[in-house]
Amino acid sequence: MLYFEAMEKYGHEQVVLCSNKESGLRAIIAIHDTTLGPALGGTRMWNYKSFEEALNDVLRLSRGMTYKASVAGLNLGGGKAVIIGDSASQKNELLFRTFGKFVDGLGGRYITAEDVGTDVKDMEYVRMETKYVTGISKALGGSGDPSPVTAYGVYVGMKACAQEKWGNDSLRGRKIAVQGAGQVARYLCEHLYSEGAEIYITDLVDDKVKRVLETIKAHVVKPDEIYDIDADIFSPNALGAVINDKSIPKFKFQIIAGGANNQLEDEDKHGKMLIEKEILYAPDYVINAGGLINVANELEGYRQDRAMKQAEAIYDIVKRVIKIAKEQKIPTHLASNTLAEERLSQVGGIRKIFSSHSGSYGRIGELMKH
Ligand code: NAD
Repeated sequence: MLYFEAMEKYGHEQVVLCSNKESGLRAIIAIHDTTLGPALGGTRMWNYKSFEEALNDVLRLSRGMTYKASVAGLNLGGGKAVIIGDSASQKNELLFRTFGKFVDGLGGRYITAEDVGTDVKDMEYVRMETKYVTGISKALGGSGDPSPVTAYGVYVGMKACAQEKWGNDSLRGRKIAVQGAGQVARYLCEHLYSEGAEIYITDLVDDKVKRVLETIKAHVVKPDEIYDIDADIFSPNALGAVINDKSIPKFKFQIIAGGANNQLEDEDKHGKMLIEKEILYAPDYVINAGGLINVANELEGYRQDRAMKQAEAIYDIVKRVIKIAKEQKIPTHLASNTLAEERLSQVGGIRKIFSSHSGSYGRIGELMKH
């Protein structure tokens, strides 16, 4: 009964347990909401200490995907899968092909992709058993690395914040502190640099910074110095939970806009602390939706120019989120939830369960049948 209660608490439609002795597969697939379309979300492989821990994670993450797709204006629902196991030692072809069979058994209600602990190679095994998988390599007709599109979305979202804060969306001459010099940061910095921003950058790995400096000029700082920079904008593009009790008191930034997931360590507490310091926060799942937009495009025959064009909409979405936050006097991360819920109730109202989904998913649903 407790499991049903957990599902009811967050409004999940369906949770599927997958077990197979031969491959050692133990997985949970959670479909949160298919009002807007088939549930899309990556497969996380993690050494969960207990079944409960894995269940909590998949319920939380799948719900997050419903909100992300809704805000991004995609015709997709929210889903996620977790495979219980050690991604360093327990991955093999049989495991992912077996998982692919389970995904296929859901007939398109759930579409998977890579996530923490899984990669493009794993998804190619999944692809051998089901067409309901995205984020595969370009060589196999997929969309490949989503980072350029994610970075572009972060860039335009940052400009929307600048427009709000300074009445002008130019980033020329703005000082921007970029945390992380990985895939997203690399492409983001190229946009920022071409617009004339002054960039401060850091990474735990020196080579990553060096690679970024091959195409742009930036001041390099140590990882623990990034929060102290006297810059206009902070752009977290490394790990989550970097906005916390320790970092916020150091902030002199006026805007936070970056691609990292789950930036606020404690949403309520740290969201409020940012408001008190009059720092405008671009909610992470809104501004980094380019990655999801990218894989969603794969479902309709991938074209990067179209994905980029869709990611451009993040500019207006961020502005709408800020407007709601101001009108309702709520933090921006709550305003984005409001926007997501509005669209869900406008489009759906009722959940599309089982038989109705193929008729109601529009173009994506149609294409997935082929
Ligand atoms: P990445 O692994 O390429 O880059 C992350 C970088 O952060 C690495 O170079 C790492 O060394 C660095 N790093 C880790 N901890 C750090 C610290 N304390 N200080 C400084 N640097 C640190 O990952 P990515 O694909 O660029 O993704 C970055 C973030 O954006 C992640 O949180 C990811 O979940 C999120 N995200 C990425 C995409 C995408 O399309 N790649 C989409 C949505 C969200």
